[in-house]
Amino acid sequence: MSATITAKDQDTVLRSVDAIADEMVDFLQALIRIPTVNPPGEEYTTGAQFIGDKLKTFGYEVAYVSAEGLKEHSAEYPRVNVIGSMAGQSARPLLHFNGHFDVVPVGKGWTVDPFSGLLRDGKIYGRGTSDQKAGIAASIYAVEAIRRAGMKLHGTVEQSGTVDEESGGFAGVAYLAQHGYISQNKTDFVIITEPSNVDRVCIGHRGVYWFKVITHGRIGHGSMPFLGVSAIDHLGDFIYSVNHTLKPELATRKTSMPVEPPGSKFASVNINAIFGGQDEIGPQTPCVADRAGAIFDRRFLAEEDFEQVRGEVRDILEELHRQNEEFKYTMEDLMIVHPVQTEPTSELVTTVAAGIEEVLGKRPPLTASPGTYDQKHVTRLGHVKDCIAYGPGILNQAHQPDEYCTVEDLVNSAKVMALSAMRLLGTD
Ligand SMILES: [Zn+2]
Repeated sequence: MSATITAKDQDTVLRSVDAIADEMVDFLQALIRIPTVNPPGEEYTTGAQFIGDKLKTFGYEVAYVSAEGLKEHSAEYPRVNVIGSMAGQSARPLLHFNGHFDVVPVGKGWTVDPFSGLLRDGKIYGRGTSDQKAGIAASIYAVEAIRRAGMKLHGTVEQSGTVDEESGGFAGVAYLAQHGYISQNKTDFVIITEPSNVDRVCIGHRGVYWFKVITHGRIGHGSMPFLGVSAIDHLGDFIYSVNHTLKPELATRKTSMPVEPPGSKFASVNINAIFGGQDEIGPQTPCVADRAGAIFDRRFLAEEDFEQVRGEVRDILEELHRQNEEFKYTMEDLMIVHPVQTEPTSELVTTVAAGIEEVLGKRPPLTASPGTYDQKHVTRLGHVKDCIAYGPGILNQAHQPDEYCTVEDLVNSAKVMALSAMRLLGTD
């Protein structure tokens, strides 16, 4: 059960957040000015160091964890994560705030400098502001506000700044979880400060299955196609079955998870890429294609069994082979991410939800993400059951030109995080 905090302490800490709001904005602007662009992973060392220096100033013990042994960790682009730990009276409970400091490339359409950290009309602009440097600023200053108010957390709080979330998180949160930094043996609660909008709690995400299907044929002269076997025709048959058999079936499967937007409550499949025959660039020769393929993105639900998800694709391919023995194929798994969801009634979810209600005066909806984020690593590799995403960023600002976060959301989310930390860890 969460600790209770007195109305006086609550009031004190909320004032304390207001009192350091300007400092928090300064920190966020400075963090935005470090262009930690991924790919390829620019300025990671600088980013980690900048966060680490601030954590040290705020009383944390700081460690840098590089993703040694992973191919993406190179001399040119080192994968450096930072973790700060502030021990309380007691090692447990332990609350871990995690935020990724890599940002996606700038892209087109900006009207402001994406790395200036411009503050205008209550909005802070820059690539990675909402996704999700504002979240990092909020969690660091939430805990600092408690300390400045002269209060001490009873349990332990950790803050990590990690890399590569935008490219799968393997050198970031996954690495920390694999190496015991985020683990059920020490960690009770994880709040990932991804943009959830300031007034919502995200409790999980759907599953992902990427697979490649290659169809094989036999080369022949394009003027006598009956002498060859077209791999492209085979692929066309398969795609037809996916569209006319699998898709309508998936559209009937709906999850009970609160996935937003509502359309993504249904299982789905998308064709990411298609290839085959001759390259479109260069001279063409008359040939029956002996090889074609496509990459599929199947999003599956917590209610679906993964073996069935994969099996029903294979069934379609096998059926095509039964109808035509020249239909030959290979199928390869590219990525499998299982769905995760933290219990809506868990202490972490109810505590953060209560904080949102107090600060913003509204009952927060619980949501789940149509895509995946680092929660998969926390749950699957770290085996920490209580994990949510909560942060000030605006979800539909992520990856957009002129990305911004409002100062108001930043401050309010820091208040929610401060109240949550006090309740989850207790105060002495
Ligand atoms: Zn993000």
